[in-house]
Amino acid sequence: MKVPFLDVGATYKELSKDVDEAIARVLHSGWYVLGPELESFERDFAAFVGANHCIGVANGLDALEIGLRALEVGPGDEVIVPSNTYIATWLAVSAVGAIPVPVEPRRDTHNIDPSLIERAITKRTKAILPVHLYGQPAELKPILEIAARHGVRVIEDAAQAHGSEYDGRLIGGHGDVVAWSFYPGKNLGGLGDGGAVTSNDPDIADRAKVIRNYGSRIKYVNDVRGMNSRLDPIQAAILRVKLSHLEEWNERRTKIADYYASSIDNPYVVKPALAPRTRSAWHLYVISTANRSSLEAHLSQRGISTLIHYPIPPFLQQAYGNCGYDPTKYPIAVKLAKEVLSIPIGPHLTMEQAAWTANSINSWSPI
Ligand SMILES: *Cc1c(COP(=O)(O)O)cnc(C)c1O
Repeated sequence: MKVPFLDVGATYKELSKDVDEAIARVLHSGWYVLGPELESFERDFAAFVGANHCIGVANGLDALEIGLRALEVGPGDEVIVPSNTYIATWLAVSAVGAIPVPVEPRRDTHNIDPSLIERAITKRTKAILPVHLYGQPAELKPILEIAARHGVRVIEDAAQAHGSEYDGRLIGGHGDVVAWSFYPGKNLGGLGDGGAVTSNDPDIADRAKVIRNYGSRIKYVNDVRGMNSRLDPIQAAILRVKLSHLEEWNERRTKIADYYASSIDNPYVVKPALAPRTRSAWHLYVISTANRSSLEAHLSQRGISTLIHYPIPPFLQQAYGNCGYDPTKYPIAVKLAKEVLSIPIGPHLTMEQAAWTANSINSWSPI
């Protein structure tokens, strides 16, 4: 049996009629940048995640950068980031001239450890940037409390958390700013790049909106040195169609995650752990083992595709090679990068494929 890691094309095929219609509507409208289609999606997405404002931007990295700029984070400021995350989280901090200050994750949830944040805060700390890694929400309650105590902002990287819940409320309305990606493989993904910023604060939202459009409110009048980072109306129209299926698709992911949780039973494999108050959107199902390459080969022989999120932590990347990060200070991130393995999950994975995957994991032994 072939088990693809994620069948992105299947998401289009399931909705092709509605998606084609949505695209045609934009093509015939003659309105190809900003405009009503984008505004409709922004309203829909803000309402869905429970935020007052949504600003559609070009991609998730820009969403993070624009979010940081809207919080007035700039050169010389420090931003607390997880030591283990996709590099985009760090790159956005660097893009505004600020310094990423890594904090280790908890070994069980892989999300930033709130008990380690306070000691990383200095006079220069401007914001905390938790990531809801794999769709599992970071522990926002203690993080927001620490931020309030120290007068720093919270910007969330929600690129993997469309539909995830914390404390009974969807991710999107908790922190000062929430950054989203609509990269095709995300739980809510376009047919190309896309991203958004959500916020409940009208001033932050207003700054983000100005920054994404050349720093301009009135054409040819530029208040700040902005960017050109606007969510394409064609992608906005596609995303409106897909948004109406997100809950159902996340339920399918949850069914697979629940199945894996109850059926994977191998003493050499650690399954994901969720923090209290959280509900994951199951963007990824990440197991770990000390003998990863052997498990990878075993699954690959049985037609099962896996991926590693992520093999090299940002502080070990050449991109940050001259910044003086000492890897011995981040042993958990180093260890996770060696041991994590993402197994297939997605709205179009069949239960037969999930069963074959679970059985194959159970039949593996490193010795
Ligand atoms: C995908 C992703 C991003 C970046 O999104 P793009 O749209 O690819 O720029 C940022 N952070 C995390 C955690 C992601 O998974």
